[in-house]
Formats: sequence, structure tokens, C-alpha cells
Amino acid sequence: MSRCTATKNLEVHHKRRDGGNGIDNAQILCHQCHENTATYGTDGKSSSPFSEATKEAALKRAGNRCECEKDNCHG
Ligand SMILES: [Zn+2]
Ligand SMILES: [Zn+2]
Repeated sequence: MSRCTATKNLEVHHKRRDGGNGIDNAQILCHQCHENTATYGTDGKSSSPFSEATKEAALKRAGNRCECEKDNCHG
């Protein structure tokens, strides 16, 4: 199994930077996967932060697990 299934250091990623702060734009990623996203830490329009309620709902939807689906995303 190569897909990331981390359950620690989970962060809420904005799927689309201009996609707003709703649950549809939220993806649970562990810190390492988050760092591997193309837009992480880059300049540009900043996203509006997710509310605590949205973060909780996103975590629950993801089963408290990284939702990254890239194979061998990081070592
Ligand atoms: Zn991950
Ligand atoms: Zn990943």
C-alpha cells in the first residue's frame, strides 16, 4: 500500500485557492502531503481560512485520515 494513510499532523488543505472556505473546498492532508501540494507556501491570493466547524466536519468526513491519493507522495 503506497497511498498515504497518515492519521497524525493532519491539516486542512484548500483544494482550490479561490474556492472559498466551504467544506467542498477542504481536503484533509497530513503535513508532509500538504507541503507537497503545488500551492503550499507560494505567493498569491491567500485563501480564506476554514472555520473550526468546517475543519471538524472535514476531519470527520475523512475519517481522521490523510485524503491524499497520490502514490508514493513522500517517503
Ligand atoms: Zn499524507
Ligand atoms: Zn500525499
